[in-house]
Amino acid sequence: MVARISGIGMTSQRTRERMIARLREQGIKDEVVLAAMLEIPRHIFLDEALAGRAYEDGSLPIGFNQTISQPYIVARMTELLRAGGTLNKVLEIGTGCGYQTSVLSRVAKEVYSVERIGPLLEIAKGHFRELKLRNVKVKKADGNFGIPEMAPYDGILVACGATHIPEDLLRQMAIGGRMVIPVGAGEQMLTLVERTEEGYRKTELEAVKFVPLLGGTA
Ligand code: SAH
Repeated sequence: MVARISGIGMTSQRTRERMIARLREQGIKDEVVLAAMLEIPRHIFLDEALAGRAYEDGSLPIGFNQTISQPYIVARMTELLRAGGTLNKVLEIGTGCGYQTSVLSRVAKEVYSVERIGPLLEIAKGHFRELKLRNVKVKKADGNFGIPEMAPYDGILVACGATHIPEDLLRQMAIGGRMVIPVGAGEQMLTLVERTEEGYRKTELEAVKFVPLLGGTA
């Protein structure tokens, strides 16, 4: 079990260090995010046949027609959410295999994550147990509605592409909170939403490609 986490060859610490060096070259500057991604073994989130490609800079299939996000995107979204500050309560929509969630667990005090596909959520929970993450809580639900009973959140990270920003998620942001969400019907733009005393400020950052934010559960 321990050997599975520490990895060898293409899944070793050495390979993970090379991924971190590449993220720096790609412009990721937040040392807290880079340290979290050095610590979390991305290869354990993938099937054995794909584990050797875990530290390449691409998205990879995780079953159920879904993908694990590319390391650069995970780093970028986490960096945007943190904005160099501390995160107490974070909400993530789209747990998937749980990799992004695990990175968030290292930079925030509490992480709540919502996934609509039940069996995928079970797989993610197995990964959280294996890594002994104690500050992650998950819920099988339609993430369009967030988790109102735990709101407000100082960070909301949406890991799937939305055609519009869900009203409920806006409402669940704390004043001073930040949301990072891919928005768009065809072309998606990574969008940062900041909630201030006066209202919401939106900034479009860069083109991205995410699997769609769907409705209901499966
Ligand atoms: N961050 C994940 C990748 C997520 S892929 C990782 O690191 O693995 C996007 C995920 O969003 C998929 O698992 C998909 O099932 C989920 N999703 C899509 N629409 C959703 C919704 N309305 N509510 C919750 N999860 C949703």
